[in-house]
Amino acid sequence: MSAVGAGTVAGSLSVVCRRGCPPGRRSPVVAVRSGGVAAAAPILTQLRGKCATPLPVLRRVADAMAADIRAGLAADGGDGLPMILSYVDTLPTGGEKGLFYALDLGGTNFRVLRVQLGGKDGRVIDTEFQQVSIPQELMFGTTEELFDFIASELARFVEKEGDRFQLRQEMKREIGFTFSFPVKQTSVDSGILIKWTKGFAVSGTAGRDVVACLNEAMERQGLNMHVTALVNDTVATLAGARYWDDDVMVAVILGTGTNACYIEHTDVIPKLQGPKPSSGRMVLQIINTEWGAFSNSLPLTEFDRDMDSASINPGEQIFEKTISGMYLGEIVRRILLKMANTTALFGVSAPEKLCTPFTLSTPNICAMQQDESDDLLTVGTILNDVVGAQSSLSARKTVVEVCDTIVERAGRLAGAGVVGILQKMEQDSKSLIFGKRTVVAMDGGLYGHYPQYRKYLQDAVTELLGPETSKNVVIDHTKDGSGIGAALLAAANSKYAN
Ligand code: ADP
Ligand code: MG
Repeated sequence: MSAVGAGTVAGSLSVVCRRGCPPGRRSPVVAVRSGGVAAAAPILTQLRGKCATPLPVLRRVADAMAADIRAGLAADGGDGLPMILSYVDTLPTGGEKGLFYALDLGGTNFRVLRVQLGGKDGRVIDTEFQQVSIPQELMFGTTEELFDFIASELARFVEKEGDRFQLRQEMKREIGFTFSFPVKQTSVDSGILIKWTKGFAVSGTAGRDVVACLNEAMERQGLNMHVTALVNDTVATLAGARYWDDDVMVAVILGTGTNACYIEHTDVIPKLQGPKPSSGRMVLQIINTEWGAFSNSLPLTEFDRDMDSASINPGEQIFEKTISGMYLGEIVRRILLKMANTTALFGVSAPEKLCTPFTLSTPNICAMQQDESDDLLTVGTILNDVVGAQSSLSARKTVVEVCDTIVERAGRLAGAGVVGILQKMEQDSKSLIFGKRTVVAMDGGLYGHYPQYRKYLQDAVTELLGPETSKNVVIDHTKDGSGIGAALLAAANSKYAN
């Protein structure tokens, strides 16, 4: 990171003591001369221009998304999206009955859950879950150590199973495994780990079937249980939402990262032609698009390119870097840093903390955008507490504009992505999408907590589809779809016929 130079603004600035303000709840509007803010205006105008997503841009993005989906279904390794087959061809119907478990591993916490399903009438009779954090050292240990830990926690959870939960006679407990790491799936209940991500560096797992790893660990723990479905979080979300609503066709996660999946007809998946599944009955399958990898036609700026270059995966996951929670705050920080350096937005020099990557989080920019007070007190407090910046009222207004520009672009592009998927389904499949009610199930902390993001996404969908068609497309927030979804898939793929 380069040293922060003094602002290049000419003229005298009445600089206020920059370290003097205690990090209290209130930060008074500071008398930084507003020349800096006025000078920031051209940068803001230029930023707005480069991030603009008028209808023609949205259309290009939606079309490009549809084209990349098609290319990814045609062949692996081409220009298209990864379009990973989930082998999930049996979706929950609502008729599932019995006791099922789920295990969700996708970060530094994992969740275990049990659910008693009562069929069409009873639905979810009871459910319980528990969250466990993974000890740091196990993220760098061996496969056996990690999976033994998970299986032993699971065993303790199973021991606490009360009378309200009932396993049918002669049945082993069955579990759905949500595993959100790159996996090469070979069937609905097996998949080879390609590599660990998200800070995990467990030795000996890559190249192995993660279902076998878990089944073996459960056996070592004396747990009489087995995995009947292996899925990622997006697929589990779709299954969970579909259980309640037959019109769910697409699921999107907008959290730290982003992904989307949808229900596809197998006869429009050319790359499936080779190793066709043995039974001829499979006509539908959930496809995991890995849409975070999308990169065509996006309105990007120097700030996006610089952030990408500095990332651990330059050139990859460009859509994710433009629309997901991990990055929105960081894009804003980079813009504010440029404004601070070249226009003295926060006084004579940029505050030191503003130079540190990822200091400003997406929840921070979200909180700033919720500030409706006249003097933008919350904005001032966050700028002071988080990046050590003292701000005039007009600087705060500029900051909010920057946040809004980046969030508007993100939400609208996510909306264009959703329409791209729907468009592809409508055009190539026998799925009637626009002529009837179709539900897109949304999940993830970004979507759940950021009202402006949600609104921009919905606006883009409505603009793209027009007032009539958009009435049929329901963008719906699912609550804890993914946890229960994996248990439902365990049920739908049960070894014991229902
Ligand atoms: P993950 O994607 O890691 O599984 P979540 O779906 O819970 O986890 O999403 C967490 C992400 O959601 C955070 O990284 C953050 O970007 C975003 N987020 C969380 N809380 C808020 C908030 N209050 N406002 C805006 N974004 C938020
Ligand atoms: Mg998640």
